[in-house]
Amino acid sequence: MKILLTGGAGFIGSHTCVELCEAGHDPVIVDNYINSCPEAVRRIEQIVGRSVLCYEADVTDAAAMDRIFSENAFDCVIHFAGLKAVGESVSQPLRYYRNNLDSTLTLCETMQKHGVKRFVFSSSATVYGNQPQVPYREDMPSVGCTNPYGWTKFMIEKILEGQCTADPSWSVVLLRYFNPIGAHASGLIGEDPSGIPNNLMPFIAKVAVGELEKLSVFGNDYPTPDGTGVRDYIHVVDLAKGHVKACDYSAAHQGCEIINLGTGHGYSVLDLVNTFERVNGIKIPYVIAPRRPGDIAENYADPSKAKQLLGWTAEKNLEDMCRDTYRFQHNNPKGYQK
Ligand code: UDP
Repeated sequence: MKILLTGGAGFIGSHTCVELCEAGHDPVIVDNYINSCPEAVRRIEQIVGRSVLCYEADVTDAAAMDRIFSENAFDCVIHFAGLKAVGESVSQPLRYYRNNLDSTLTLCETMQKHGVKRFVFSSSATVYGNQPQVPYREDMPSVGCTNPYGWTKFMIEKILEGQCTADPSWSVVLLRYFNPIGAHASGLIGEDPSGIPNNLMPFIAKVAVGELEKLSVFGNDYPTPDGTGVRDYIHVVDLAKGHVKACDYSAAHQGCEIINLGTGHGYSVLDLVNTFERVNGIKIPYVIAPRRPGDIAENYADPSKAKQLLGWTAEKNLEDMCRDTYRFQHNNPKGYQK
Protein backbone atom coordinates (compact mmCIF):
# COMPACT_ATOMS: atom_id res chain seq x y z
CA MET A 1 0.00 0.00 0.00
CA LYS A 2 1.11 3.55 -0.70
CA ILE A 3 0.46 5.54 2.45
CA LEU A 4 0.85 9.28 3.07
CA LEU A 5 2.22 10.18 6.50
CA THR A 6 1.65 13.81 7.42
CA GLY A 7 4.18 14.70 10.10
CA GLY A 8 6.08 11.57 9.18
CA ALA A 9 9.42 12.95 10.39
CA GLY A 10 8.14 13.40 13.96
CA PHE A 11 8.44 11.05 16.91
CA ILE A 12 5.50 8.74 16.22
CA GLY A 13 5.51 9.35 12.45
CA SER A 14 9.14 8.30 12.03
CA HIS A 15 8.65 5.05 13.95
CA THR A 16 5.49 4.31 11.98
CA CYS A 17 7.35 4.98 8.74
CA VAL A 18 9.93 2.33 9.71
CA GLU A 19 7.27 -0.25 10.63
CA LEU A 20 5.35 0.38 7.40
CA CYS A 21 8.52 -0.21 5.38
CA GLU A 22 9.28 -3.36 7.37
CA ALA A 23 5.74 -4.61 6.61
CA GLY A 24 6.34 -4.08 2.87
CA HIS A 25 4.35 -0.86 2.43
CA ASP A 26 5.40 2.29 0.63
CA PRO A 27 5.16 5.31 2.96
CA VAL A 28 5.49 8.87 1.66
CA ILE A 29 6.21 11.66 4.13
CA VAL A 30 4.99 15.26 4.11
CA ASP A 31 6.44 17.41 6.88
CA ASN A 32 7.10 21.12 7.40
CA TYR A 33 9.87 20.36 9.95
CA ILE A 34 8.40 22.84 12.41
CA ASN A 35 8.96 20.33 15.22
CA SER A 36 11.15 17.75 13.45
CA CYS A 37 14.05 17.71 11.00
CA PRO A 38 15.27 16.12 7.76
CA GLU A 39 17.90 14.18 9.72
CA ALA A 40 15.09 11.99 11.10
CA VAL A 41 14.21 10.97 7.53
CA ARG A 42 17.85 10.12 6.79
CA ARG A 43 17.88 7.94 9.92
CA ILE A 44 14.68 6.18 8.83
CA GLU A 45 16.35 5.42 5.50
CA GLN A 46 19.39 4.09 7.31
CA ILE A 47 17.24 1.70 9.37
CA VAL A 48 15.13 0.38 6.48
CA GLY A 49 17.98 0.37 3.93
CA ARG A 50 16.14 2.24 1.21
CA SER A 51 15.09 5.76 0.34
CA VAL A 52 11.75 7.18 1.46
CA LEU A 53 9.98 9.85 -0.59
CA CYS A 54 9.62 12.99 1.50
CA TYR A 55 8.00 16.33 0.68
CA GLU A 56 8.79 19.47 2.67
CA ALA A 57 5.40 21.16 2.75
CA ASP A 58 2.75 22.40 5.14
CA VAL A 59 -0.49 20.40 5.25
CA THR A 60 -2.44 23.69 5.35
CA ASP A 61 -1.02 24.53 1.89
CA ALA A 62 -3.79 23.31 -0.42
CA ALA A 63 -1.76 23.79 -3.63
CA ALA A 64 1.17 21.77 -2.26
CA MET A 65 -1.13 19.01 -1.03
CA ASP A 66 -2.90 18.90 -4.40
CA ARG A 67 0.46 18.46 -6.13
CA ILE A 68 1.52 15.66 -3.76
CA PHE A 69 -1.77 13.80 -4.33
CA SER A 70 -1.43 14.32 -8.10
CA GLU A 71 2.03 12.75 -8.05
CA ASN A 72 1.06 9.73 -5.90
CA ALA A 73 -1.89 7.34 -5.87
CA PHE A 74 -2.38 6.93 -2.14
CA ASP A 75 -4.35 4.02 -0.69
CA CYS A 76 -4.49 5.52 2.77
CA VAL A 77 -3.42 8.56 4.80
CA ILE A 78 -2.11 8.69 8.38
CA HIS A 79 -2.43 12.17 9.83
CA PHE A 80 0.18 12.88 12.52
CA ALA A 81 0.94 16.52 11.66
CA GLY A 82 -0.17 19.03 14.25
CA LEU A 83 0.89 21.26 17.09
CA LYS A 84 1.05 19.20 20.28
CA ALA A 85 2.35 21.13 23.30
CA VAL A 86 -0.41 21.28 25.91
CA GLY A 87 0.93 24.33 27.79
CA GLU A 88 1.58 26.27 24.59
CA SER A 89 -1.97 25.52 23.43
CA VAL A 90 -3.27 27.29 26.55
CA SER A 91 -1.26 30.44 25.81
CA GLN A 92 -1.76 30.31 22.00
CA PRO A 93 -5.24 28.82 21.50
CA LEU A 94 -5.96 30.55 18.19
CA ARG A 95 -2.74 29.26 16.66
CA TYR A 96 -3.57 25.71 17.80
CA TYR A 97 -7.16 25.75 16.54
CA ARG A 98 -6.15 27.41 13.25
CA ASN A 99 -3.28 25.07 12.52
CA ASN A 100 -4.67 21.73 13.67
CA LEU A 101 -8.15 22.22 12.21
CA ASP A 102 -7.01 23.90 8.96
CA SER A 103 -4.49 21.16 8.22
CA THR A 104 -7.09 18.44 8.76
CA LEU A 105 -9.71 20.20 6.63
CA THR A 106 -7.23 20.82 3.81
CA LEU A 107 -6.11 17.20 3.97
CA CYS A 108 -9.70 15.88 3.87
CA GLU A 109 -10.64 18.19 1.00
CA THR A 110 -7.59 17.09 -0.97
CA MET A 111 -8.41 13.44 -0.28
CA GLN A 112 -12.00 13.99 -1.40
CA LYS A 113 -10.84 15.65 -4.61
CA HIS A 114 -8.48 12.76 -5.39
CA GLY A 115 -10.84 9.96 -4.31
CA VAL A 116 -8.72 8.81 -1.34
CA LYS A 117 -11.06 7.65 1.43
CA ARG A 118 -9.01 5.85 4.06
CA PHE A 119 -7.85 7.94 7.00
CA VAL A 120 -6.01 6.95 10.18
CA PHE A 121 -5.92 9.75 12.74
CA SER A 122 -3.45 10.41 15.51
CA SER A 123 -5.88 11.13 18.33
CA SER A 124 -5.28 11.08 22.03
CA ALA A 125 -6.61 9.74 25.32
CA THR A 126 -6.91 13.40 26.29
CA VAL A 127 -10.23 13.38 24.37
CA TYR A 128 -11.79 11.31 27.19
CA GLY A 129 -11.21 14.11 29.71
CA ASN A 130 -11.05 13.33 33.41
CA GLN A 131 -13.24 10.23 33.59
CA PRO A 132 -14.63 9.08 36.94
CA GLN A 133 -13.36 5.53 36.39
CA VAL A 134 -10.56 3.50 34.81
CA PRO A 135 -9.85 1.81 32.47
CA TYR A 136 -10.87 4.12 29.64
CA ARG A 137 -13.10 2.43 27.09
CA GLU A 138 -13.94 3.74 23.63
CA ASP A 139 -17.66 3.83 24.41
CA MET A 140 -17.24 6.24 27.35
CA PRO A 141 -18.59 9.66 26.37
CA SER A 142 -16.04 12.45 26.67
CA VAL A 143 -16.42 14.58 29.78
CA GLY A 144 -14.67 17.48 28.02
CA CYS A 145 -11.04 18.36 27.41
CA THR A 146 -8.91 20.49 29.69
CA ASN A 147 -6.92 22.47 27.11
CA PRO A 148 -7.10 23.72 23.48
CA TYR A 149 -4.72 20.99 22.25
CA GLY A 150 -7.15 18.34 23.54
CA TRP A 151 -10.12 20.18 22.04
CA THR A 152 -8.44 20.20 18.60
CA LYS A 153 -8.19 16.39 18.82
CA PHE A 154 -11.83 16.23 19.93
CA MET A 155 -12.98 18.51 17.11
CA ILE A 156 -10.99 16.64 14.46
CA GLU A 157 -12.62 13.39 15.60
CA LYS A 158 -16.01 15.08 15.09
CA ILE A 159 -15.01 16.39 11.63
CA LEU A 160 -13.99 12.89 10.56
CA GLU A 161 -17.13 11.30 12.05
CA GLY A 162 -19.19 13.83 10.10
CA GLN A 163 -17.38 13.02 6.88
CA CYS A 164 -18.07 9.30 7.37
CA THR A 165 -21.75 10.04 7.92
CA ALA A 166 -21.86 12.20 4.79
CA ASP A 167 -19.97 9.69 2.68
CA PRO A 168 -20.29 6.14 4.04
CA SER A 169 -17.62 4.89 1.65
CA TRP A 170 -14.98 6.64 3.80
CA SER A 171 -13.04 4.52 6.30
CA VAL A 172 -11.65 6.34 9.33
CA VAL A 173 -9.76 4.93 12.30
CA LEU A 174 -9.37 7.31 15.26
CA LEU A 175 -6.44 6.01 17.27
CA ARG A 176 -6.48 7.31 20.83
CA TYR A 177 -2.92 7.10 22.09
CA PHE A 178 -2.10 6.84 25.76
CA ASN A 179 1.51 7.88 26.69
CA PRO A 180 4.00 6.98 23.95
CA ILE A 181 7.64 6.73 25.08
CA GLY A 182 10.70 4.65 24.13
CA ALA A 183 12.61 4.70 20.86
CA HIS A 184 13.65 2.39 18.03
CA ALA A 185 16.01 -0.36 19.23
CA SER A 186 18.68 0.86 16.79
CA GLY A 187 19.11 4.05 18.84
CA LEU A 188 18.88 6.03 15.59
CA ILE A 189 15.41 7.55 15.94
CA GLY A 190 13.60 8.72 19.05
CA GLU A 191 11.89 11.66 20.68
CA ASP A 192 13.61 15.00 20.15
CA PRO A 193 11.57 17.73 21.84
CA SER A 194 12.64 21.33 21.39
CA GLY A 195 13.38 23.23 24.59
CA ILE A 196 12.63 21.94 28.07
CA PRO A 197 10.37 18.89 27.76
CA ASN A 198 6.86 19.04 29.20
CA ASN A 199 6.37 15.29 29.28
CA LEU A 200 7.78 12.97 31.89
CA MET A 201 9.97 10.55 29.92
CA PRO A 202 11.76 13.14 27.73
CA PHE A 203 12.47 15.10 30.92
CA ILE A 204 13.93 12.03 32.66
CA ALA A 205 16.04 11.31 29.55
CA LYS A 206 17.55 14.81 29.67
CA VAL A 207 18.28 14.47 33.38
CA ALA A 208 19.97 11.14 32.61
CA VAL A 209 22.46 12.76 30.20
CA GLY A 210 23.08 15.71 32.52
CA GLU A 211 21.32 18.30 30.40
CA LEU A 212 18.81 18.98 33.15
CA GLU A 213 19.67 18.85 36.83
CA LYS A 214 16.70 17.14 38.40
CA LEU A 215 13.14 16.00 37.82
CA SER A 216 10.21 17.62 39.60
CA VAL A 217 7.62 15.01 40.49
CA PHE A 218 4.31 16.83 40.22
CA GLY A 219 2.45 15.72 43.33
CA ASN A 220 2.79 12.71 45.66
CA ASP A 221 -0.59 12.98 47.30
CA TYR A 222 -2.80 11.50 44.59
CA PRO A 223 -5.05 8.56 45.51
CA THR A 224 -2.64 6.09 43.81
CA PRO A 225 -0.44 3.36 45.36
CA ASP A 226 2.61 5.63 45.84
CA GLY A 227 0.79 8.97 45.60
CA THR A 228 2.25 9.95 42.20
CA GLY A 229 0.29 10.13 38.94
CA VAL A 230 -0.44 6.90 37.06
CA ARG A 231 -0.42 6.67 33.24
CA ASP A 232 -0.47 3.99 30.56
CA TYR A 233 3.00 4.24 28.97
CA ILE A 234 3.27 2.54 25.61
CA HIS A 235 6.41 1.79 23.60
CA VAL A 236 6.45 3.89 20.42
CA VAL A 237 7.35 0.84 18.30
CA ASP A 238 4.24 -0.98 19.59
CA LEU A 239 2.25 2.15 18.82
CA ALA A 240 3.74 2.28 15.31
CA LYS A 241 2.75 -1.34 14.72
CA GLY A 242 -0.79 -0.42 15.75
CA HIS A 243 -0.84 2.05 12.84
CA VAL A 244 0.22 -0.62 10.37
CA LYS A 245 -2.68 -2.78 11.62
CA ALA A 246 -5.06 0.18 11.42
CA CYS A 247 -4.11 0.76 7.75
CA ASP A 248 -4.80 -2.91 6.99
CA TYR A 249 -8.08 -2.74 8.88
CA SER A 250 -9.22 0.40 7.02
CA ALA A 251 -9.09 -1.51 3.72
CA ALA A 252 -11.91 -3.84 4.74
CA HIS A 253 -13.93 -1.44 6.84
CA GLN A 254 -16.23 1.51 6.26
CA GLY A 255 -17.30 4.20 8.70
CA CYS A 256 -15.56 5.66 11.70
CA GLU A 257 -14.02 3.58 14.49
CA ILE A 258 -12.41 4.82 17.73
CA ILE A 259 -9.62 2.52 18.97
CA ASN A 260 -7.42 2.90 22.07
CA LEU A 261 -3.71 2.21 21.72
CA GLY A 262 -2.44 1.52 25.21
CA THR A 263 -1.08 -1.42 27.19
CA GLY A 264 -3.87 -1.61 29.77
CA HIS A 265 -1.32 -1.21 32.60
CA GLY A 266 -0.85 1.90 34.71
CA TYR A 267 2.54 2.93 36.08
CA SER A 268 3.30 5.77 38.46
CA VAL A 269 5.88 8.53 38.03
CA LEU A 270 8.07 6.79 40.61
CA ASP A 271 7.67 3.40 38.87
CA LEU A 272 9.09 5.06 35.76
CA VAL A 273 11.96 6.74 37.64
CA ASN A 274 12.87 3.55 39.51
CA THR A 275 12.74 1.33 36.42
CA PHE A 276 14.80 3.84 34.41
CA GLU A 277 17.45 3.92 37.15
CA ARG A 278 17.58 0.14 37.48
CA VAL A 279 17.79 -0.88 33.81
CA ASN A 280 20.22 1.88 32.83
CA GLY A 281 22.33 1.96 36.00
CA ILE A 282 21.83 5.73 36.33
CA LYS A 283 20.60 7.91 39.17
CA ILE A 284 17.73 10.31 38.38
CA PRO A 285 17.70 13.02 41.05
CA TYR A 286 14.20 14.26 41.79
CA VAL A 287 12.25 16.51 44.13
CA ILE A 288 8.59 16.37 45.03
CA ALA A 289 6.83 19.47 43.66
CA PRO A 290 3.20 20.66 43.76
CA ARG A 291 0.63 19.04 41.50
CA ARG A 292 0.58 20.35 37.92
CA PRO A 293 -2.70 22.19 37.25
CA GLY A 294 -5.08 20.15 35.09
CA ASP A 295 -3.37 16.81 35.83
CA ILE A 296 -5.46 13.80 36.72
CA ALA A 297 -4.54 11.08 39.22
CA GLU A 298 -4.75 8.06 37.00
CA ASN A 299 -5.62 6.83 33.54
CA TYR A 300 -5.03 3.70 31.56
CA ALA A 301 -6.61 2.06 28.55
CA ASP A 302 -8.89 -0.85 28.07
CA PRO A 303 -7.01 -2.15 25.01
CA SER A 304 -9.41 -5.02 24.20
CA LYS A 305 -11.00 -3.32 21.18
CA ALA A 306 -7.62 -2.99 19.46
CA LYS A 307 -7.04 -6.68 20.04
CA GLN A 308 -10.46 -7.64 18.76
CA LEU A 309 -10.59 -5.40 15.66
CA LEU A 310 -6.92 -5.00 14.73
CA GLY A 311 -5.41 -8.15 16.22
CA TRP A 312 -2.97 -5.83 18.00
CA THR A 313 -1.59 -5.86 21.53
CA ALA A 314 1.42 -4.07 22.98
CA GLU A 315 4.39 -6.41 23.36
CA LYS A 316 7.08 -4.33 25.03
CA ASN A 317 7.31 -3.68 28.75
CA LEU A 318 8.37 -0.71 30.87
CA GLU A 319 11.97 -1.96 31.00
CA ASP A 320 12.17 -1.96 27.19
CA MET A 321 10.73 1.57 27.13
CA CYS A 322 13.29 2.86 29.63
CA ARG A 323 16.24 1.07 28.01
CA ASP A 324 15.38 2.22 24.49
CA THR A 325 14.70 5.82 25.53
CA TYR A 326 18.10 6.04 27.20
CA ARG A 327 19.93 4.44 24.26
CA PHE A 328 18.62 7.12 21.89
CA GLN A 329 19.31 9.95 24.34
CA HIS A 330 22.80 8.64 25.14
CA ASN A 331 23.68 8.24 21.44
CA ASN A 332 22.13 11.62 20.58
CA PRO A 333 22.50 13.84 23.65
CA LYS A 334 21.53 16.90 21.58
CA GLY A 335 18.84 15.06 19.65
CA TYR A 336 19.11 15.29 15.87
CA GLN A 337 21.32 18.40 16.20
CA LYS A 338 18.84 20.77 14.62
N1 UDP B 1 5.17 14.52 35.46
C1 UDP B 1 6.05 14.85 36.47
N2 UDP B 1 7.11 15.67 36.17
C2 UDP B 1 7.32 16.16 34.93
C3 UDP B 1 6.43 15.81 33.89
C4 UDP B 1 5.35 14.99 34.21
O1 UDP B 1 5.89 14.43 37.63
O2 UDP B 1 8.30 16.91 34.73
C5 UDP B 1 4.04 13.62 35.76
C6 UDP B 1 2.67 14.18 35.47
O3 UDP B 1 2.19 14.90 36.59
C7 UDP B 1 1.86 12.92 35.16
C8 UDP B 1 2.89 12.00 34.51
O4 UDP B 1 4.16 12.49 34.90
O5 UDP B 1 1.42 12.31 36.34
C9 UDP B 1 2.83 11.98 32.98
O6 UDP B 1 2.90 13.30 32.51
P1 UDP B 1 3.06 13.63 30.96
O7 UDP B 1 3.08 15.12 30.80
O8 UDP B 1 4.22 12.87 30.41
O9 UDP B 1 1.73 12.99 30.31
P2 UDP B 1 0.18 13.36 30.52
O10 UDP B 1 0.02 14.03 31.85
O11 UDP B 1 -0.17 14.24 29.39
O12 UDP B 1 -0.53 12.06 30.49
